Amino acid sequence: MSKTIVLGAGIVGLSCAYYLIQAGKTVAIVDPSPEGDKASFGNAAGFAVTECIPAGVPGLLFKLPKLLLDPLGPLFLKPTHVPAMYPWLLEFQRSSSKRRVLEIAPALAALNDRTYKDFAPILRDLEYERHVHNKGCLVLYNDRSSFEKDRFSWDLKAKHGVKFEQLNAHEVRELEPDIGPRKQFGVLQTDWSHISSPKQLMDRFLNWVKDQGTEIIRETAVALEHSERDVSVRLGNGEALTADDVVVATGAWSKSLANSIGDKCLLESERGYNTTFKTPGISLSRELLFAEEMFAVTPINEGLRVGGAAEFAGLKAPPNYERSRALAKLASRMLPKLQTDTGDQWMGHRSATPDSLPVIGSSPKVRGVHYAFGHGHLGLTQGPATGRLIADLVLRREPIVDVRPYGIERFT
Ligand SMILES: Cc1cc2nc3c(=O)[nH]c(=O)nc-3n(C[C@H](O)[C@H](O)[C@H](O)COP(=O)(O)OP(=O)(O)OC[C@H]3O[C@@H](n4cnc5c(N)ncnc54)[C@H](O)[C@@H]3O)c2cc1C
Repeated sequence: MSKTIVLGAGIVGLSCAYYLIQAGKTVAIVDPSPEGDKASFGNAAGFAVTECIPAGVPGLLFKLPKLLLDPLGPLFLKPTHVPAMYPWLLEFQRSSSKRRVLEIAPALAALNDRTYKDFAPILRDLEYERHVHNKGCLVLYNDRSSFEKDRFSWDLKAKHGVKFEQLNAHEVRELEPDIGPRKQFGVLQTDWSHISSPKQLMDRFLNWVKDQGTEIIRETAVALEHSERDVSVRLGNGEALTADDVVVATGAWSKSLANSIGDKCLLESERGYNTTFKTPGISLSRELLFAEEMFAVTPINEGLRVGGAAEFAGLKAPPNYERSRALAKLASRMLPKLQTDTGDQWMGHRSATPDSLPVIGSSPKVRGVHYAFGHGHLGLTQGPATGRLIADLVLRREPIVDVRPYGIERFT
C-alpha cells in the first residue's frame, strides 16, 4: 500500500492526515512536538467563515505609518527583520490593490464555504460537535461612522454571501451586557461559530489519528529529497524517510522545506499574542472583535481569551509579552468589569503569505510533494477544507475546489 508522510501535526497537518486515512492511505506524521503549543493550540477558537477579505486592502498603506508608530500597537515590524522581509512587503503592497483584492476574496470565500462541510465528519469522529457554539461573532465599532469607513470590506463580504446584521448600542448590550460604553455600534456575523477549546480539539484529534494506527515520528524534517521514483524526508537525526507522497504542513516553518526542492514562496511568521483569564469576572456568549483596536475576545473552556497583534520579527526572536499586557489593558477599557489578574500568556506563529491566501497544491518541481501551509488568521477555519483538497491531490482526483489560486507557482 502506498504511503504518505505528513509533516506537521497542527490543525492543517492532522486534517490532511484525516482525509488521507479516510481515503485508505497509510499515513505517518513527522513533528518534533505533536502535543504542541503552536498556533493550532492557542488560537482564538473561531470558525471565521465570514473572513474573505485579505489583510491588505486598498487604503491600508496610508494607515500603516500611524499603526507602526505605536510599538505595542496591533502591527509591529522589528526593524532588524525588515530587510529580510522586503520581497514579502513588496508583494503585500501589490496584493492590496483593488484588482487583486477582488480576485483574492472569492478564493478565500471558496475555502470558508467548505468549513462546516469538511469539519462535520471530523467533529463527529472526535465527538466534538457539541463544542461548536453557533452564536455568531459580534464586531464592535466606536460608532456608525467608523463602521462606514470599512464599507468596502463589508460590501465585498456581502457580495460573497456573508450574512450580517447591524446593531445599535442598545441591541449590542442586549446581546452582551458586559460591553462598556466606548462601543456604540455592532455588526453580528451570524454564520461564525467558536469552539470550546482549540487545545481540547487538537488533543482529541491527535488521539483519533493515533487510534487509526498512524505512526507519529517525533523528529524535525530538515529537507526534502527526491529520486525518479519517490520522495524522501531528511530528518534532524540524519535518517531519511521515503514515501510516495509528502505533505508539507509545517505552518510558519514551511518555507525552508519548499526551498529545499527549489520551490520558492513568500512566507513570514506573523506572531500573535493572547492572554487567557481563568476568572475574568464577566461572561460573554460569543466571540467579540474590536474593529478599530484589532483584537478578539473569546469565551472558551479555559477562561476568557483576549488576543491579537501582528508582530513581524521572524521565527527565532523571543516573545515580547508586553504585547499580551497591552492587549489586556485595552480589553479592560472595552470591558470595564474584566478582571485581569489571573491570566496565562501565549505567543504563536501564524504562517502568513503576502496575499492572505494559503498555499495549497502540488509542487511544480517534484511529483509527490504537496503543500498545505500559509493559512494566516484562518488555519482553524480552513484546515479541514485543506485536508480534503490535499487528499484529492494525493489521490490524483479532481479537487473539490479549484486550487489554482492557492498554488505555490504564484510566487515565481
Ligand atoms: C493569536 C492567534 C489567533 C488566531 N485565531 C484564529 C481563529 O480564531 N480562527 C482561525 O481559523 N485561525 C486562527 N488563527 C490562525 C490559526 O491558528 C493558524 O492558521 C493555524 O493554527 C495554522 O495551523 P498549522 O497546522 O498550519 O500550523 P501550526 O499550528 O503552527 O502547526 C505546525 C506544526 O508543524 C510542526 N513543525 C514545525 N516545523 C517542523 C519541521 N521542520 N518538521 C516537522 N514538524 C514541524 C510544529 O511543531 C507544529 O506542530 C490564530 C492564530 C493566532 C496566532
